[in-house]
Amino acid sequence: MGVAPSEGPRPKRLAFNTVAVGPDRCIFCKIASRESPSDIVYEDDNYIGFLDISPFSRGHTLVCPKKHGETIWDMEEGDIAELFRVASKLSKAIVSAVGADGFRFVQNNGEAANQVVAHVHVHVIPVKMEDKGRYRDRMKFTTAEQKETARVIREQLRLG
Ligand code: AMP
Ligand code: ZN
Repeated sequence: MGVAPSEGPRPKRLAFNTVAVGPDRCIFCKIASRESPSDIVYEDDNYIGFLDISPFSRGHTLVCPKKHGETIWDMEEGDIAELFRVASKLSKAIVSAVGADGFRFVQNNGEAANQVVAHVHVHVIPVKMEDKGRYRDRMKFTTAEQKETARVIREQLRLG
């Protein structure tokens, strides 16, 4: 016998972040409003994609809804679908841009899951065949290298 599904909305604090801040102090809201700099690769009315500042691989991108929300549970179902549609579209451009052989989606919810920025985001992490079976440490690229990576991703997006 299965467990009966619970009725009504989920309690919000099921996945929590002690570091949660409001939109006025949120770094990803500031990136979306251009108050903080970032290497933006994609933008539409509701979503934005930019390079991770401390990437696991060249081209590691974060895709966010512009509207502030802490975890995926703060989003409408249709918006979650759209977020992953955008992430999927971006993944093709990213994999082509850096000559990868595959990619990971990582989506952390709550501090227990290592969420450190409490604004919903999907990591798109391109991986090469030589990375098979291992998890890389974070990498460091120069500002110029990040800008060039972002440019090539934007170019690939344009080419479709
Ligand atoms: P998570 O652990 O899922 O919350 O991941 C947050 C990610 O945001 C990390 O990979 C950070 O390197 C990245 N990050 C933090 N601040 C910035 C920033 N200002 N610009 C770009 N990426 C950032
Ligand atoms: Zn935010």
